Amino acid sequence: MNRKKFIKSLSLIPFIFTAMNLNKLNKIADSYKSSEKLPVLFVGHGSPMNAIEENEFVTGWRDIGKTIPKPNAILCISAHWETRGTFVTAMEKPKTIHDFGGFPAELYEVQYPAPGDPELAKETKTIVKITQVGLDDKWGLDHGCWSVVKHLYPAADIPVIQLSLNYFQSPQYHYDLGRELSLLRKKGILIIGSGNIVHNLSLVAWDKMEEPGFGYDWAIEANEKVKKFILSNDHKSLIDYKKQGRALSLAVPTADHFLPLLYSLALKEENEKIEIFNDKAVAGSLTMTSIKIG
Ligand code: ZN
Repeated sequence: MNRKKFIKSLSLIPFIFTAMNLNKLNKIADSYKSSEKLPVLFVGHGSPMNAIEENEFVTGWRDIGKTIPKPNAILCISAHWETRGTFVTAMEKPKTIHDFGGFPAELYEVQYPAPGDPELAKETKTIVKITQVGLDDKWGLDHGCWSVVKHLYPAADIPVIQLSLNYFQSPQYHYDLGRELSLLRKKGILIIGSGNIVHNLSLVAWDKMEEPGFGYDWAIEANEKVKKFILSNDHKSLIDYKKQGRALSLAVPTADHFLPLLYSLALKEENEKIEIFNDKAVAGSLTMTSIKIG
C-alpha cells in the first residue's frame, strides 16, 4: 500500500468505528424483530393466594391469556416494586420473591423459574428518554408479577423482566414513561401492569372475605367511575385521580396499586378496543377489575 492509500485508509477508521458502534447499538436495541403488535394488560392481582388457588379470577387470567399470541417476552410493572429512580431487572435468572407475610407455607414454596432477559432490559433502558433507567441485578419477580404470570404461562418458558415504580414521581410522569414503552409492543413483548384499581387494605371487611363480590358502596362507586374514564379514553381524569372525590380517595389511599393502570392505559392507541374482565369486588375494599387493550 502506498503512502497516499495508507493515509486514505486511516481516514476511514473513524467511519468504521462509528459503523461498528451503530451496529452494536442496533443489536442492543433490536433484541426482538418486529412482529404483530401485542395487546397490553392491566390485571388486578388481589391476594397472593391467587397464585395457588383455583377461582374465577385465575380462570379469567387464563382465558385472556388464550386470546393473546405467545409473546417473545413479558415486561411487568408491578405495584410491589417501588424504588427511588426507575429500574429494570437485568439478571439472567430472576428469583421468585415471596414479598408477603402470614400466608400458608405452600405459598412460600412456589417458584416461578422464568428466565430474565438482559438484552430486553438494555433495550428498555435505551428507548426510555424521560429518565435514566438503571439496570438492576438484585430484585427478581415479586408476587404482583409472578402470581399472575404463573397462570398465564405455567410453563415459565417466556422471559420476564420488571420495571420499577419511582416512588418520588407524579402520576403524569408514570403515564408519560408508559407511553415510551410502546415500541416494545411491536416486538412481541407483552406489557402487563399489575395492581388493583380499588385497593384499601386498612378497610378490608375481614368478616366478608368469603362473600363473593362483596364491595363497599364507595368501592363500587370508585370502580364504576374508573371504568367510565377508561372506556371514554379520559386518561386525564385518571392521571388526576386525586381530584375525583371521596370514593376514589378511599379506593386509592396510596398510588402503588393504581399507577400500573396508568402505564397500561398510556400504551393504548386511538381506536384500540378495550375488554374489561374479572370485574368484581372482593373483601369490601378491593376490586379485581382487569383490562385488555388491543
Ligand atoms: Zn398487591
